[in-house]
Amino acid sequence: MRDALAPLRDVVAAHGLTAKKSLGQNFLFDLNLTSRIARAAGPLDAATVVEIGPGPGGLTRALLAEGAAHVVVVERDRRCLAALAEIAAHYPGRLEIVAADALDVDPGKLVGARRPARICANLPYNVATALLTTWLEAEPWPPVFDRFVLMFQKEVAERITATPAKRAAYGRLAVLANWRCATRILFEVPAAAFTPPPKVTSCVVELVPRPAPLPCRANLLCEVTQAAFGQRRKMLRQSLKALGVDPAALLAASGIDPSKRAEEIEVEGFVALARALEAARAGLTLPS
Ligand code: SAM
Repeated sequence: MRDALAPLRDVVAAHGLTAKKSLGQNFLFDLNLTSRIARAAGPLDAATVVEIGPGPGGLTRALLAEGAAHVVVVERDRRCLAALAEIAAHYPGRLEIVAADALDVDPGKLVGARRPARICANLPYNVATALLTTWLEAEPWPPVFDRFVLMFQKEVAERITATPAKRAAYGRLAVLANWRCATRILFEVPAAAFTPPPKVTSCVVELVPRPAPLPCRANLLCEVTQAAFGQRRKMLRQSLKALGVDPAALLAASGIDPSKRAEEIEVEGFVALARALEAARAGLTLPS
């Protein structure tokens, strides 16, 4: 969907927005593509969308043109602020610009009481995994967002959506993401779609928060997966020694064969281990 604003290439030239690699700046100028990403976060009317890293505003404009009631953008590069202000003037009262490092911002606080709320972003690759991990570890759960629609490098997208069947990609990120969300890759985006083009293909990923994930403490789940995948080729009876609790007891309480390796264990198994670890540290006798 087009708007009456200047073409993005002209905006970039007018504001001197030469892409900085240090900020993960790979811009999207293709309106069909930005509209497709915005529609993946839809239906947008009545929705408030947080976008991290709007840059010159290609995706921002698509979100607004597709009807988002409110868009809140968080951009670290102050050079982009004037271009974003032009978009805000074109859509009065619908675009809020936050000049900040997204790593320092709680996106839930940005939407206030407005619902439904989503995060939709072509994330800066250098901080994409850190941002997602922080959002997935947030308490309380479910978050205020009913969906995350995010662009990642394909390799990261595969690590987010992996199952034990995809052994090489399956690891800590997949366990955390799929514990708390239903995840799937929506579509691939070729490197040539970006300016400048990155070295790799990208993917748009959808994460839908589960209203009631299996109960366990996020920090203990992370500790268990760190130990297990930290030595992913070793059997769990060996790798889980790093937890400082008898691995045999933890595995027995969780109903897991001690000769299995981390990459063979489903999310449910890791949740059981996290709960057994909590009980063991609390000094409770572990049921076998
Ligand atoms: N959304 C735009 C698009 O699709 O064309 C730009 C996406 S570009 C991949 C990533 C954007 O994130 C850049 O505008 C960059 O300046 C911004 N950025 C990088 N690190 C950031 C951070 N820590 N916090 C907020 N924005 C950041």
